Amino acid sequence: MNQRVGIGFDSHPLVEGRKCILGGIEIPHPKGPLGHSDGDAVLHAIADALLGAAGAEDLGTLYPDSDPRWKGADSARILGEVMARVRAAGFAVANVDVVVATDGPRIAPHRGAIRTRIGKILGLDDTAVNVKGKSLEGLSGRDVVSVHAVCLIARRT
Ligand code: MG
Repeated sequence: MNQRVGIGFDSHPLVEGRKCILGGIEIPHPKGPLGHSDGDAVLHAIADALLGAAGAEDLGTLYPDSDPRWKGADSARILGEVMARVRAAGFAVANVDVVVATDGPRIAPHRGAIRTRIGKILGLDDTAVNVKGKSLEGLSGRDVVSVHAVCLIARRT
């Protein structure tokens, strides 16, 4: 079997005084994801999906939040490195699909820009990257962004 599926999840609180970087772009919003790196839960979920599909390790193991090297890190760089790892393991990515669940910034107006940005980081056409925004309907009890990502990869022949 040459095809493999991967799943990733990430969640960060949204707090004041942080840039709202999601999907590799800055979204105008008064709160942003709190995290050791730039807090980009979208890119983190995708990275974990890719690592899972490749049977590699996970983001927390490769980029521990106890490591000062990743403090304030650009998650686009981290995802780029993960993609290089997946490629080096002999895989190509077929597609990535993402659900961004939040009552914070509206995702829909930024969908095109996010797809383009993620495609660029992964070396994929925009059409191979899909992003959907969902409201949490106030059910999370606090301001958060929660992201689910799946990907399909195939061994290069
Ligand atoms: Mg994270």
